[in-house]
Amino acid sequence: MTRLNFLNISIDNFTSVELLQRLAGGGTVYTPNVYHLLRLQQDREFYQVYQNADYCICDSQILWAVSRLLGRPIREKISGSDLFPAFYHYYRDDETVKIFLLGAAEGVGEKARSRINQKLQRNIVVGSYSPPYGFEADPAEGDRILERIQASGATVLAVGLGAPKQEKWIDRNRDRLPNVKVFMAIGATIDFEAGQVARSPRWMSRLGLEWLYRILMEPRRLWKRYVSDALPFMVLVLTERLGFYRDPFRDEPTYLRPNLGGRARS
Ligand code: UDP
Repeated sequence: MTRLNFLNISIDNFTSVELLQRLAGGGTVYTPNVYHLLRLQQDREFYQVYQNADYCICDSQILWAVSRLLGRPIREKISGSDLFPAFYHYYRDDETVKIFLLGAAEGVGEKARSRINQKLQRNIVVGSYSPPYGFEADPAEGDRILERIQASGATVLAVGLGAPKQEKWIDRNRDRLPNVKVFMAIGATIDFEAGQVARSPRWMSRLGLEWLYRILMEPRRLWKRYVSDALPFMVLVLTERLGFYRDPFRDEPTYLRPNLGGRARS
């Protein structure tokens, strides 16, 4: 089975290699985790953006474990921060792959760019930009961002603006970037690539404790996301397990849905 329904999204049940191969054909990649799933119960635009996605892969060890409990096992957890480096290594010899990094604090994208290019001994990352705070409310800044990306010649756009901003940005703008074939929403990965924020040690990731490491590193920002989301998520999973879960948006009249102009998923 290549796609699993889970609450109100479908998760692609690929291995990372299968996904990397498929991305030769382009597409948008989102990486749902517990926070996304909670948000998808309330945020109609985010829900629609997910409906328009080409690939949704499991970012979260918790989601991976829950999929087993529900009897719909996800084969592999593929977090955005693993997928992105796997992607540039996989396509390192493909000259048509040119990456632009959008997001992270001032200077961090440039640092990530030079580290990746140095590692690969090739200028695979052709540009980066850290938009100023509140840029999404400024249409002129939005246009300038699109111009920068187009001018860079990028064919792959990695967006690290945090969820749901990054997914909404991609959905609104993908049709305005005709040269870009692959769009990835990668959260804090640009920070990791720049060496700005350390990733958890391998043994913690293997035990599914990446979330604990991230809370310890950034407690003020992340405690709410991880700890206070746990209970409502467990309730949702329980309702799904018992067969009571109802998608809040599924049967909604279409006039209530925003017209985002994205591609409908087959
Ligand atoms: N960020 C940004 N602009 C914004 C909001 C966030 O560039 O307006 C960046 C922030 O600097 C960080 C990333 O988005 O690099 C936040 O990612 P988060 O930790 O929320 O993502 P996760 O990996 O947890 O999905």
